[in-house]
Amino acid sequence: MPLLGLGTWQLTGDTAGDVEHALQVGYRLIDTSGDYGTQPGIGRALRSSSLDRDEIFLVTKVEEDEDSFEAAQRNLQELGQGYVDLLLIHRPPHNGVGEWLWEGMLEAKREGLAREIGVSNYTSRQIDRLVEGSGERPAVNQVEWSPFGHSWDLMEHAKTNGIVIQAYSPLTRGQRLSDETLAEIGERHGKTAAQVILRWCIQVGAPPIPKAARAEHREENLDVFDFELGAAEMDALTGLNEHYSSLAGLPYV
Ligand code: NAP
Repeated sequence: MPLLGLGTWQLTGDTAGDVEHALQVGYRLIDTSGDYGTQPGIGRALRSSSLDRDEIFLVTKVEEDEDSFEAAQRNLQELGQGYVDLLLIHRPPHNGVGEWLWEGMLEAKREGLAREIGVSNYTSRQIDRLVEGSGERPAVNQVEWSPFGHSWDLMEHAKTNGIVIQAYSPLTRGQRLSDETLAEIGERHGKTAAQVILRWCIQVGAPPIPKAARAEHREENLDVFDFELGAAEMDALTGLNEHYSSLAGLPYV
């Protein structure tokens, strides 16, 4: 899975144009969902790209109140694609952990609709229950994750179980970008606050999927592979944790 991708929630202005630009400048992972309204535009961008399909890592999600297999088929139809690389349950249902959803996901994988399957917004306990029931672990748990809001317990559990934590809302939807620590570290490396956050995510092993409607933001966010944060800088960034969430609270803490 690529170490950085483009999030497309609310990227509804000119989705196809934005994704075409992203692919041109080097993005190889695109994150969407059946409820984002961006699948048709992403499909158009993929079809007009000169890249081979297997050079691109496409992620989509099914909702917790859907028939997951049918939703996977519908998403593929909207995307105009034969498969996605990763199919996620968007969030755990209110009752239980969604064993019935997981069955549909496993079927989607068996039938070739998805190369890999995973979850989003799950706690480690919920993942354990899902695996107990089916014997099949999710490949990925996509959760809100930034220096300002994260959990080493969740990361530890994920690493132990061979699950990748994928970081959504890594830029705190812009809410913490004026933090002084980010500015100080960024100045040392000639990088912006957003780039410092994304680099921290990559170095802790949580590949981020920042959303950016602005082309200059997309280019800036990709330009994080030519510097490395030192141990003291990583510690300072990790120390910013306040369990911040752009939702009511981090669901997994
Ligand atoms: P985000 O990526 O943390 O923040 C997006 C905001 O940051 C936008 O306002 C964007 O502005 C701005 N931005 C982007 N790059 C910037 C830069 N270099 N400097 C300054 N500002 C910058 O928030 P998000 O959209 O909530 O999360 C990212 C993706 O994660 C979503 O798009 C979606 O794909 C996924 N997600 C998944 C879930 C889930 O439940 N699984 C939930 C939320 C999000 P512009 O758009 O104006 O460029």
